[in-house]
Amino acid sequence: MFPLGERAQFMDTSVAIQVEHVTKQFGDFVAVKDVSLELKSCDSIGIIGPNGAGKTTLVNLITGYYAPDRGSIRIFGKEISALSPPERVSLGMLRTFQLVHVFDNLSVYENVALSLYRRQTGNHSILLSFFRTLVDTRTRERVEEVLDLFHLSSLEGEQVGNLSLGDKKKLELAMIYVVDPEVMILDEPFAGLGDQEIDEILPILKNAVQKQKKTMLIVEHKLSKLTSIVENIAVMHEGAIIASGPCEETLNHPEVRRSYWKLDGCPDPKETK
Ligand code: ADP
Ligand code: MG
Repeated sequence: MFPLGERAQFMDTSVAIQVEHVTKQFGDFVAVKDVSLELKSCDSIGIIGPNGAGKTTLVNLITGYYAPDRGSIRIFGKEISALSPPERVSLGMLRTFQLVHVFDNLSVYENVALSLYRRQTGNHSILLSFFRTLVDTRTRERVEEVLDLFHLSSLEGEQVGNLSLGDKKKLELAMIYVVDPEVMILDEPFAGLGDQEIDEILPILKNAVQKQKKTMLIVEHKLSKLTSIVENIAVMHEGAIIASGPCEETLNHPEVRRSYWKLDGCPDPKETK
């Protein structure tokens, strides 16, 4: 451990996420293959690719749910490969899941308040002290503000098990938004949502990136929605990133046209070398 002042020299706040040559295998199967990716602070990137391309595995590696077999992962310049998911949360990185993670037997209000409580106390179990914070004025104000933003106020007292998938996805986003994270990692946030629900959420995410200067990595299939929030896109195919950069340029990259869009008549880059 370094003393704080000394450690600050090693922190690079200009780069939020730096993935270098990361590989993850399940048995003989290579799910993520030598992936390198850099996301500058206050930037946003969308990750696209067919099912099974390795997108969720990459998210799990960045957020600490899997350990890489090779390579390094840094947040704000700090090597985090050996840190647990809660330790990464304490560095300001929060995520949502492709399959929602919410507490079905608590109310909508309690779920968002619990998220705030965990971040403020670092406590990950539901203790008596959590139930005391539910009536705390500052907690109530912040939770109600966020529920309003996500159009969930009318469901505040509803038990989460009774919600539609769309409302659960909105709730999960509200649960990370409430703690004001530096880095938001969203795995298919719009899956299961209707167009109207997505259009309610888009301005909130846009605002988080553009005005509140959050860093955001989003895995999402709905390209037209994705490109309205992110500046850059990375395309994954069979565990590797085959192209990345500004949206339009990347979506027209020859390798992306061939492997992602399956467009015929596109010259094979290997043959034209
Ligand atoms: P995507 O999110 O792009 O659809 P995933 O990252 O979920 O893809 O999966 C990539 C590949 O890795 C898939 O073939 C999947 O079956 C495999 N995979 C993912 N997680 C595991 C695991 N825990 N054990 C074995 N195979 C896995
Ligand atoms: Mg996935």
